[in-house]
Amino acid sequence: MRIGIFGGSFDPVHLGHLAVARRAAARLRLDEVRFVPARVQPLKSAGPRAPAEDRIAMLRAAVGGIRGFVVDGREIARSGPSYTVDTLRELRKERPGDELFLLLGADAARDLAEWRESAELAKLATVVVVPRPGAEDVPAPPGAQKLDMRPIDISATAIRDAVAHGEPMDHLVPEAVADYIAAHGLYRTGV
Ligand code: ATP
Repeated sequence: MRIGIFGGSFDPVHLGHLAVARRAAARLRLDEVRFVPARVQPLKSAGPRAPAEDRIAMLRAAVGGIRGFVVDGREIARSGPSYTVDTLRELRKERPGDELFLLLGADAARDLAEWRESAELAKLATVVVVPRPGAEDVPAPPGAQKLDMRPIDISATAIRDAVAHGEPMDHLVPEAVADYIAAHGLYRTGV
């Protein structure tokens, strides 16, 4: 099988994430896209705003029922910072015959050299860089592919900011996620 691994804070998951996953699945002929929410991303200065349980619940609500899309809670279950290299090593062991594709927004790809065992990542998976507004000039790391896709200007930061200011954000997230944010009162104060 050809498996896409899509990690991040998903604080919250948004329509940009889903568009990336759909495009990657189509262009790379993926059998599965695995969304892996991080407990704590080592390189993000502030921790996630919403608790891990809420972030994973929103992901499940967003991708549940989409064929081939799977939510993988292993980084939430693991204690300490979430290192992608650990996740890829585990998946390699679990699925020795599968081909892994690590999907990275261009903003994330820019910092790739700082990731734990970054050289190892490219041995465990094919790195695929996804265009993102504001990160157009980021060169693909050696050995990486670029996903052919028009950049989509949606970020979790913009969504948290909209909620905090009482502005609409329903057009930026799946309906079930908008409902979840409202029902649980997430992101009402600051970003
Ligand atoms: P924040 O605004 O809080 O930094 P984010 O919108 O970047 O969040 P993350 O959950 O941190 O979302 O992102 C997970 C992965 O998805 C990262 O590789 C990121 O680059 C990528 N990504 C997120 N949004 C987009 C987008 N609109 N286009 C392309 N890649 C994206």
